[in-house]
Amino acid sequence: MHIEVRGLNKKFGDFQAVADVNFEIEKGQLIGLLGPSGGGKTSILRMLAGLETVDDGDIVFHGKRVNDLPPQERGIGFVFQNYALFKHMTVAENIAFGLEVKKWSKQKIKERVAELVDLTGLSGFEKRYPHQLSGGQRQRVAFARALAPEPQLLLLDEPFAAIDAKIRHELRSWLREMIDRLGITSIFVTHDQDEAIEVADQIMIINKGRLEQKGTPWEIYKNPESPFVASFIGESTIIEDVSALRGFGGSAEPGTKALIRPEYVEIGKASDFELLSATETGRVRHIHFRGSEWLVEVQIGAAKLVTYRSLEKEILQPGDEVRVLIHRAYLFNDTDSWVMENKLKEDPMPVHI
Ligand code: ATP
Repeated sequence: MHIEVRGLNKKFGDFQAVADVNFEIEKGQLIGLLGPSGGGKTSILRMLAGLETVDDGDIVFHGKRVNDLPPQERGIGFVFQNYALFKHMTVAENIAFGLEVKKWSKQKIKERVAELVDLTGLSGFEKRYPHQLSGGQRQRVAFARALAPEPQLLLLDEPFAAIDAKIRHELRSWLREMIDRLGITSIFVTHDQDEAIEVADQIMIINKGRLEQKGTPWEIYKNPESPFVASFIGESTIIEDVSALRGFGGSAEPGTKALIRPEYVEIGKASDFELLSATETGRVRHIHFRGSEWLVEVQIGAAKLVTYRSLEKEILQPGDEVRVLIHRAYLFNDTDSWVMENKLKEDPMPVHI
């Protein structure tokens, strides 16, 4: 289903929970609504579902305005984080529930339930009750139940939030695979950036009721359009005055703030760098083992930066003096943000985004 949302607004009392949100979603895409708690993600999802009224704006499914359609006529499936399965019904009965409401024939229901049990890997569990299932299995039943009436849009509100880390990981890949197979347009809410980056075709960053940015995970990571987005996606450090750093002074006004990501910071001994003039001198403060690499915190004057270091390189110790090359930074002031490369290293021109 193709979806278009125009000028969407929602107030709760005096509080503007959703403010002038506009977006379009192509058929078959998996979209992650990502943002801090209270930002308005669930409110957007509930308005799409018809579970919340719209104050202002249009919700258009397949070219048809659906603002006034009740939820059951919108062709959507809904999965919540807390399973919301019927406790007194078996797996098969839970999946069949929506089909019985829609008065499908007994034979068609039987076939559809078998198809979904197979699709969601629940064969052999048909006669179990929810309390006899693991969290991951229960969530699969919830998916199967939402998918049973052949919805055109699947809405998922933090579907993995209540599930432990390892299973959550498996469920994410499974969801991605299943949605690819079914080709169903899907929107899921999360505040876990790894989840959104790993699973979604496109991410929408929602903050204070506004859509800050929409794009593929890579586009958003590479070209954040606001300091909020830059600091929300990826690990990073904020520098209060980037003009004091080598390679950034001169082009940046004194007092310009910058956000620096670990992957754009390189540390080593003086002999490791060809362009020593582009590097700062720093001191290692902490070093953390992260399984596949070291995470190193390094102090340069008043600024503290974070970077990664390969396990194959010489191990650094807290207190070691190192050279630090900052390849690029996201600069920002109150109105604008842009990417700047270290000008002692390469292109001296700031790239505005
Ligand atoms: P979370 O990640 O914590 O679920 P969210 O981004 O989904 O947050 P929403 O649930 O959409 O955010 O809530 C947005 C804001 O609107 C919050 O400040 C919330 O308290 C408020 N809000 C939501 N529903 C109602 C309601 N029915 N009445 C009053 N305020 C509400």
